[in-house]
Amino acid sequence: MRVAVLSDIHSNVVALDAVLDSAGPVDAIWHLGDVVGYGPEPDAVVDRLAAAGAVGVAGNHDRAATGGSEIDWFNPDARAAMEWTRGRISSTTSSWLAAQPVRRTESETLLVHGSPRDPIWEYVMSSAVAGANLRELETRMGLFGHTHVPMIWAERDGRIDGISPRPAATIRFDGTSRLLINPGSVGQPRDGDPRASWLELDLGEGIGTWHRVAYDIPAVQAAMLDAGLPVRLAERLRHGL
Ligand code: ZN
Repeated sequence: MRVAVLSDIHSNVVALDAVLDSAGPVDAIWHLGDVVGYGPEPDAVVDRLAAAGAVGVAGNHDRAATGGSEIDWFNPDARAAMEWTRGRISSTTSSWLAAQPVRRTESETLLVHGSPRDPIWEYVMSSAVAGANLRELETRMGLFGHTHVPMIWAERDGRIDGISPRPAATIRFDGTSRLLINPGSVGQPRDGDPRASWLELDLGEGIGTWHRVAYDIPAVQAAMLDAGLPVRLAERLRHGL
């Protein structure tokens, strides 16, 4: 079974289309939340995911988009983009977002946006936080997003290792380590590489592969500026930060 794992698409349908094109036919699409927010095309992104039968979880931006108080914790640019999103999304998009759970288990793999113990808000960025969450994990593998940075956290014999996977890096999950894995962000990467990031899982072979895909960043920036979204949010796409 071949699965495309996508996180933090953030209303960037140009990046999403580039990823779906390059992935080709897959058996499943799992998304890790923050489907909307920041970018210019929330309805188109949800249309694509719904049409493809993607399953996944809600992120802090998805909750905010459907009226959640998460918006109170956003910085001014994120908040401005979220107010724009709230005024813009269709009732179909809103219902689809509201139906996303905060945790979901697929093929013995936990899907969350933030972390297993705090699925909406916690950032897994240190070995201390990763270790605490790995100890709570009830499956061998958990997938998370939220940081917009590709990452592998592994626990074996009580030791926690963090690895930053390079593009085309592969990992073998043979059940000897407990793993927390971040595919990186499709729509707003923050690891210095502006290309869309996603993770391919081959569950039969037990192999994960990170991919980066170039997309038309100037077209997305132009759409953001046309929509009146914050200039800094458009600018950062070019830097991947
Ligand atoms: Zn995000």
